[in-house]
Amino acid sequence: MKCSVCSKEAIIEVRWKGKAYCETHFRGYFLGQVRKVFDKFGVKGKICLALSGGKDSAACLEALTHLDVDVEALFIDLGIPGFSEECREAAEAIAAKLDVDLHVLNLQANYGTTIPSLVELEGKKPCSMCGTIRRYLMNKYAYEHGFDYLATGHNLSDQLAFVFNNLANVYLVPFREIGPVLRPREEGKLVGKVKPLYYLTDEECKVYSELAGLPICEDKCPYAETATTNLMKRWLHSLDLEMPGVLRRFAESFMRISEGMERDEEISGCRICGYATTAGVCKFCRLMRRVRRKSRG
Ligand SMILES: [Zn+2]
Ligand SMILES: [Zn+2]
Repeated sequence: MKCSVCSKEAIIEVRWKGKAYCETHFRGYFLGQVRKVFDKFGVKGKICLALSGGKDSAACLEALTHLDVDVEALFIDLGIPGFSEECREAAEAIAAKLDVDLHVLNLQANYGTTIPSLVELEGKKPCSMCGTIRRYLMNKYAYEHGFDYLATGHNLSDQLAFVFNNLANVYLVPFREIGPVLRPREEGKLVGKVKPLYYLTDEECKVYSELAGLPICEDKCPYAETATTNLMKRWLHSLDLEMPGVLRRFAESFMRISEGMERDEEISGCRICGYATTAGVCKFCRLMRRVRRKSRG
């Protein structure tokens, strides 16, 4: 297989374009897809990237350093033994290598709790709690430090697996969150959200992060419930082999649906902390209130 641009040996096939690329031209394609999100949606200002230590957010940060973007990184330490520490070390190494400022926010230091102790207190599955906490802390940090947008490393495969998982559970609310960009909203102190890898697949992100030689952490969260997500991804990728480009067309359709849903919901400030909620008190404050009650006895 030869590169469609320069006829050097190709390292990857990009089927929706009907092209194959060598290392140099693949990097050019990848950066072009990232740039497209910023240009098409006019994303401007200071960007705070949520760096997890994994391949996607690492690839995302590396790509942003090549664009004309003012970016800093944020790592959230949730106190998961044998996982959070490895991830933090990877995040520090990645930020150092890319010469990007990294901020570390520690759940234990700031709120006196960790995911394992929350799991014990709440007796619930950790993933949704963990999502609530991360989303809340990332937005709060970005808002308080004058960032305009929070960037995350969600790629095309993640997005679609997430949507189809929700569809499989007749759960439609998060549709408004699946587009590549959500505008900042002053009510509820919400910074904007941007997913620079929105048009890129799992495979493309993996290859890009390998080429960039980033010191990523390959450990998986011990709590992660990945079985159905992986099944969805396998199904989506096999579909894409038979119907090149179908993943991008799904994403385009979902994006249009989400545009119609973005502003539907009334958002106001939480009575306790002032950050966004659709109820009187936000999920994060409700969780922390329960934790305080339970730990008092
Ligand atoms: Zn080439
Ligand atoms: Zn609150």
